[in-house]
Amino acid sequence: MDFNLSDEQNMLIDTLRKMGEREKFKELAKKVDETGDFPWELMEKYADLGLLGMSLSEESGGGGQPVINTILAVEELSKFSPMIAAPIFESNVGPVRVIDAFGTEEQKKEIIPKVAKGEYSVSVCMTEPEAGSDLTSLTTKAMDDGDNYILNGTKTFITGGGHASHYLVYCRVDDIPGYKGIGGLLVEKDSPGFTFGKQEVFMGLRGMPSCDLIFEDVKVPKKNLIIKAGEFRNLMSTFDVERCGNAAMSLGTAGGALDAAKAYAQERSAFGRPINEFQAIQFLIVDMAMQLDAARLLVYRAATGAGRGFPSIYESAMAKCFANEMAVEVTGSAMQVFGGYGYSAEFPVERMARDARAWGVAGGTVQMLRITMASLIFGKRFDQRKGK
Ligand SMILES: Cc1cc2nc3c(=O)[nH]c(=O)nc-3n(C[C@H](O)[C@H](O)[C@H](O)COP(=O)(O)OP(=O)(O)OC[C@H]3O[C@@H](n4cnc5c(N)ncnc54)[C@H](O)[C@@H]3O)c2cc1C
Repeated sequence: MDFNLSDEQNMLIDTLRKMGEREKFKELAKKVDETGDFPWELMEKYADLGLLGMSLSEESGGGGQPVINTILAVEELSKFSPMIAAPIFESNVGPVRVIDAFGTEEQKKEIIPKVAKGEYSVSVCMTEPEAGSDLTSLTTKAMDDGDNYILNGTKTFITGGGHASHYLVYCRVDDIPGYKGIGGLLVEKDSPGFTFGKQEVFMGLRGMPSCDLIFEDVKVPKKNLIIKAGEFRNLMSTFDVERCGNAAMSLGTAGGALDAAKAYAQERSAFGRPINEFQAIQFLIVDMAMQLDAARLLVYRAATGAGRGFPSIYESAMAKCFANEMAVEVTGSAMQVFGGYGYSAEFPVERMARDARAWGVAGGTVQMLRITMASLIFGKRFDQRKGK
């Protein structure tokens, strides 16, 4: 296994780091957290640099780069804030990948070039008020009606809700029970009968649009059924790529906290000495660096294994689970290095600690990831339903 980055990959990281310094991304991250306003102006900048859709297939209008390059970009930019990395995440490892992998030629040609220009974005819509981890209990229904499906139901916590141009809605097709009935239907924003609930207020990730989606007798053309009932596995395989992106957000959030803690430990003095001369602080920083590096190796393994396609379920689940928990611990330790200032909104680490908490729930909880890994380790599916 080769963990050396190529010259191009090092150049990508360097370009993004310098861009962040030049464009004052640290200050922007603070402002976005305070105001809750997403920095939409980044879309054009990222599109010009070829970062949007960089890992989608070239034939469809993407950049054709391997998944690992997107992961490196997301990690680097999320050191400032996940909000600053979000457009790269959404346009490469988000549900647009389902269109890239399984959409019709017409859908790919219509959507992917516009995603690469920052004009379109696609949201993933799985979670419902009564079905989160237990996704196979979802009740949003798409019923056959000639040339269309009629869609009814409610989705909740949808990132990009109200802003995205397209919504990949996981739904029960023709009332078929269980996971075999779940398909993926692409719904356009302005479809009649499709409305949005109020925007969520989260503990962290402030600035990220998120809300409920309400579908009331929405007519969706049958050609928009990108994943047919019974092809649930296809939906989940693209979700494994998203897990790598989610894990990269954790790497970046933790990396930003470690950088801030290292710098602070050299500037802050106590008892007449810089605090980095105390072994207690050194050990905290060393443990943070060790945890981050271990997570990085898992994430890079999963993403490199994906090539230009999909990663292994086991490797992506392990990478996400470990990186999500690592980010919570590392940002918590960074707060400790900062003492009282770690608890103050004036300094970035309290924001990073709030942001870090999201990743172990968004995109599947760390508990559900462990269930996935357990079934792969033991070579059998453990039915979670009571009495079965
Ligand atoms: C910031 C953020 C962004 C999100 N973005 C999106 C999005 O864009 N699209 C989307 O569809 N959803 C999104 N979600 C929703 C997210 O995917 C769900 O919150 C998550 O899957 C958990 O579902 P739930 O909240 O219903 O929790 P529940 O499923 O009710 O789980 C509650 C708790 O019980 C545990 N649990 C449940 N079942 C088991 C079991 N069998 N064994 C052990 N423990 C179990 C869970 O791990 C969790 O700790 C987002 C959430 C957040 C926080």
